[in-house]
Amino acid sequence: MLPVITLIGRPNVGKSTLFNRLTRTRDALVADFPGLTRDRQYGVGRIGPGPYILVDTGGIASSAEGIEALMERQVQRAVDEADHLLFLVDTKDGCTPEDVEIAQRLRRLGKPISLVVNKSDTTDPMLAVADFHRLGLGDPWAVSATQGLGVRTLIDHVFGLL
Ligand code: GDP
Ligand code: MG
Repeated sequence: MLPVITLIGRPNVGKSTLFNRLTRTRDALVADFPGLTRDRQYGVGRIGPGPYILVDTGGIASSAEGIEALMERQVQRAVDEADHLLFLVDTKDGCTPEDVEIAQRLRRLGKPISLVVNKSDTTDPMLAVADFHRLGLGDPWAVSATQGLGVRTLIDHVFGLL
C-alpha cells in the first residue's frame, strides 16, 4: 500500500496547484474562484523519495455551506484516509480566523501533520512563516506551489515521518 498524503486547508490557498505540481498533472482544477475543485481528487505523487497517493480535498460544495461544514467533511476524510496531512495556509492572506479554527480541529486528530505556508514566492520566506507559528503545529514549511520552491524538501520531511 502506498502512503496517503492529504492536502487540507481553506479554499484558494493553493491545494490544487500543489497537487498538480506533486503529481506532475493538471488534473486538479486551479482557479481564483474557490469551489471549482471537484469534491475529492486522487493522484500519484511523483516528487519525493518514492510514490505516494496524494489527495486534494476540494473546495466548497455549495455557497450556502460554511467553512464549518466544509471542514467537517474534509477532516473526516483526512482522518479516515490519510497517513499524513499537509495543512496549507497562504502567506498573502496571513493567518486567518479560518486557519486558526482548522488548526484547532487538526490538532485534536492526533494525525501526523505538516504546516505548509504556500505562496512564499510573494514575500521573504522567513517573514512568510513567522505569522503561522501561533497555529501550534510546529515549524511551518515555506513553499511556492507555482514555482516549486521548497516542495521537494517538504516531501522529504514527510517521508521521514511516515
Ligand atoms: P485551492 O482552492 O486551495 O485548491 O487553490 P488553487 O490551487 O485553486 O489556487 C488558488 C489561486 O492561488 C490560483 O490563482 C493559483 O494560481 C494561486 N496560487 C497557488 N499557489 C501559488 C503560489 O505558490 N504562489 C502564488 N503567487 N500563487 C499561487
Ligand atoms: Mg482546489
